Amino acid sequence: MKQRRDRKVVTEPTRIGLAGLDQGPIERTLRLEAPGEQLGELPLAFERVDLEVEIRRASRDGVRVRGRLAARTTVACRRCLAPTRAEVVTEWDVMFRPPARVTPGEEGVWALEAKAGELDLAGPVREELWVHAPAWVECSAECPGMCPSCGARLADESCDCPPPGPDPRWEALEDLGG
Ligand SMILES: [Zn+2]
Ligand SMILES: [Zn+2]
Repeated sequence: MKQRRDRKVVTEPTRIGLAGLDQGPIERTLRLEAPGEQLGELPLAFERVDLEVEIRRASRDGVRVRGRLAARTTVACRRCLAPTRAEVVTEWDVMFRPPARVTPGEEGVWALEAKAGELDLAGPVREELWVHAPAWVECSAECPGMCPSCGARLADESCDCPPPGPDPRWEALEDLGG
């Protein structure tokens, strides 16, 4: 199979071999088809995560990784439960250093043994997704939600239920928010 020299697409990613790093940057385009299995627990059930990364030697024993990430999924609108696309697109820039040179709590720095033959992107990618995933997903900012009595989606259905309280929309929110 013919492949372009330094833009391989692989299906078993997150671990990237570092052979050749001292001769120049390593670039990879990766797709995670099962992010929940490959990255551990995530804030949303992402269907897939696309990554572009560039790895370069940053010092004698440090490695800098810059990446672009796009993650997609479909989840229920928080108000009306309609299937709604959710997306995280972000750029990141982290350092890998030998464990002895990683200060606990230092942001954007990950441990990597000086002689390691590969590095694992799972940690930084998982962190990016947790930081940037939306706390909730709504089909639109104006979504009127559902009728709390009959469950009609009020954006495209109407119903004859009498309003059960002062503002049925707030009750619908409370019902959904649990
Ligand atoms: Zn909605
Ligand atoms: Zn109703």
